[in-house]
Amino acid sequence: MNVFVLNCGSSSLKYQLINMKNEKVIAQGLVEKIGEEISFLKHTSNCDEIVIEENIKDHNQAIELVLEVLQSREHGVIENMDEINVVGHRVVHAGEKFSGSVLITKAVIDALRENIKLAPLHNPANIIGIEVSKKLMPKTPDVGVFDTAFHQSMPAESFLYALPYEWYQENGVRRYGFHGTSHKYVSERGAEILNKEYYDLKIITCHLGNGASVAAIDHGKVIDTSMGLTPLEGLVMGTRPGDLDPGIIPYIMKERNMTIEEVDQAFNKASGVLGISGLSNDFRELTEAAEKGNKRAELAIDIFCRRVKKYIGAYIALMDGVDLLIFTAGIGENAVDVRAKILSNLENLGIIINQDKNKSRGKEIKISSDSSAVDVYIIPTNEELVIAREAKKIIENNIKNLIIDILNENN
Ligand code: ADP
Repeated sequence: MNVFVLNCGSSSLKYQLINMKNEKVIAQGLVEKIGEEISFLKHTSNCDEIVIEENIKDHNQAIELVLEVLQSREHGVIENMDEINVVGHRVVHAGEKFSGSVLITKAVIDALRENIKLAPLHNPANIIGIEVSKKLMPKTPDVGVFDTAFHQSMPAESFLYALPYEWYQENGVRRYGFHGTSHKYVSERGAEILNKEYYDLKIITCHLGNGASVAAIDHGKVIDTSMGLTPLEGLVMGTRPGDLDPGIIPYIMKERNMTIEEVDQAFNKASGVLGISGLSNDFRELTEAAEKGNKRAELAIDIFCRRVKKYIGAYIALMDGVDLLIFTAGIGENAVDVRAKILSNLENLGIIINQDKNKSRGKEIKISSDSSAVDVYIIPTNEELVIAREAKKIIENNIKNLIIDILNENN
């Protein structure tokens, strides 16, 4: 079975075609700057790497071009569309509606539309991806895999905010959490590496990328995560502030005469380590600047690390210990000094780092010392593989329903 994994952003899309017999990536790529004058398609397969530059006006045209390249005589990896057996879509926000992946029907699309208000930056592009895929591959089933689903196991004492209860009941205000596919992949992989039962372990996963979140997974179930109703809460991020005093919002609106849209924009695009440093949201640039004596860059990194440490401590308290601590995503996998700073002085909590091993980047490796009670690992994330596995599982489980759905939709 070949799964086409599609991750549509507002002006970009990422894709992978994965052969599920051996879970090998047959081809992968990225379309950037959709809707701008010059857009790019970067496509890589086992034998080929190409870049196409042209005006790609919308997601429809982008997906059409990707499917063309996948089947082309020169760069193709498949003979025809029949070799794509299922499309797995990354969808950011499923609200409380779905606690697992689903076969996408018209009712599912309608439910996702209802969640646009919860993820206005992400869900619209995800829905466009699904609709275009249905149009261009009408015979191929689509499966939705949701960033929020893995966190649906959280108990109410964790997902409820201390706000008027009606805000939850009537407006859906609660913690949902994000990066679920990544937290799921690395935690399951971690148990596999330790050769232990997933359901026996207490695991903390730190997904530290441009967006960043931590999850506490207690005996196989997420019991808390740092992102909330939106991806703004929790850790300090590239351009988002994470936790802050809600009183700042009315205060700064009055002080700086800002609209709610301007505040929202500042929280999403101008805060985090970029806001503190005034320099960059990229940890490579920040580290370089800090080494050259830039105090604000150094401060931004310190504030970021302190917040991650705080969450690790809180989650150890919530689970009464931790067996396995995992670092993943761009910063978690690569930023050696950031990991060292987060993991410093945690000996009393049973965490001792091996400084030599911590110098590793981007590969699966244990970075705790043998005397550490807690195992600490770098595990590169693989969200596409989780999406492909989920899509395969759903298709296999739903094969009968699928035939009925297709017949119904065609009638
Ligand atoms: P996202 O998917 O949320 O955009 P990524 O997981 O790709 O984020 O992480 C991107 C971030 O990872 C970059 O902004 C950069 O700060 C960091 N990063 C990537 N490579 C390195 C590196 N070698 N050293 C330090 N930081 C890195």
